[in-house]
Amino acid sequence: MKKSKPVSPSLHVSAPGRINLIGEHTDYNEGLVLPAAIELDMRFRLQKNGTQGQCRIYSESMGKSMQADLSNLGTDAKGWERYIFGVLSELSPYSDKLKGFDGKLTSRLPAGAGLSSSAALECGLAYGLNKLFSLEISPMELIRIAQQAEIKHSGTQCGIMDQFASMMGKKDHFIFLDCRSLDYRYIPARLGDYRLVLINSGVTHSLSDSAYNQRREECRQGVSILRKVFPEIQSLRDVHPGQLEAVRHQMPKPVANRCRYVIQENARVLKAVEVLEHSDIQTLGNLLYDTHQGLRHLYEVSCPELDFLVDTAMALPGVAGSRLMGGGFGGCSLNLIRKGAVPEVISRLTAAYRERFGREAESLETGLGDGVRLLS
Ligand code: ADP
Ligand code: MG
Repeated sequence: MKKSKPVSPSLHVSAPGRINLIGEHTDYNEGLVLPAAIELDMRFRLQKNGTQGQCRIYSESMGKSMQADLSNLGTDAKGWERYIFGVLSELSPYSDKLKGFDGKLTSRLPAGAGLSSSAALECGLAYGLNKLFSLEISPMELIRIAQQAEIKHSGTQCGIMDQFASMMGKKDHFIFLDCRSLDYRYIPARLGDYRLVLINSGVTHSLSDSAYNQRREECRQGVSILRKVFPEIQSLRDVHPGQLEAVRHQMPKPVANRCRYVIQENARVLKAVEVLEHSDIQTLGNLLYDTHQGLRHLYEVSCPELDFLVDTAMALPGVAGSRLMGGGFGGCSLNLIRKGAVPEVISRLTAAYRERFGREAESLETGLGDGVRLLS
């Protein structure tokens, strides 16, 4: 009988997307966030292929494959390949152990909807290769590798939240993360009979990347003006409302508004952690709505579609809170809806959206899940 060629064992990795309950645009200001990994995930099957450095990955959901040579990664990757090349080049210090592999990825995460499919892609691949080649990289270092892959290779100056949440998520918990110290605490999702429902506006305004980097720059500008009077300030994280009040006249108005928003948002995260302890959903919902108003009027990263979804939701019975989630200019709204009212709210909201904008808004109810892990 002919002996079959031994096949090297494959790894199966689940890498979830994330939501962020509250704490938007605070991560890159060394502030506070309250994200969670979700049950929707991306899955990788990874297998050594016996070559020195030939890597092949097929994305089933995109119907596309790509190749990379570990000894010659280059810098001109486009589209989804940028994230893969990004992770591989961040892993180059481990080139003594990292060798060629074949991978296949499937995804239940909508791409570009603000659920961080990009972080899931980076974290899942980094985590899987760490296991497959026994690189012995710590979870914190994997998070940093995934974040650097995104910053250096996709051009988005993202904070650490997305990769942290995808990697460290815990079922039915939020992660209260201090983006300066990286101290974190799991907060039970005591949402009572309320559910988290995402409504995808289906729009991605081309502004989003450039505006995101511009907001970072405006925050930096704000800090440098504040520091002239208060040299102890390192980031917006350190600023008290009174300090901003004292120097805001020296700032361009938009910069003062960005600073005000970030200071208020950090305070809202602390409050949200407190009210979750007591399952005070009404107060939590109001905080979400206040965040939306801040993102809309002070940080100016909303858009008509998201404002419409939030305002319409807030007027419906059973909705405790609603806000745009993610960087802004499109993507999803996050809604806190009483369980029994979920179908009615979704149907009224999507009908109103269709009538106003002539397009479909998809709804997505999701629980909170574990972070990146091996399935087999
Ligand atoms: P988000 O992270 O909110 O989903 P991004 O624009 O940051 O939005 O990332 C989306 C990008 O991630 C896609 O444009 C694509 O390059 C990559 N991506 C997401 N899902 C997949 C997938 N299943 N296969 C390949 N690439 C993917
Ligand atoms: Mg992303």
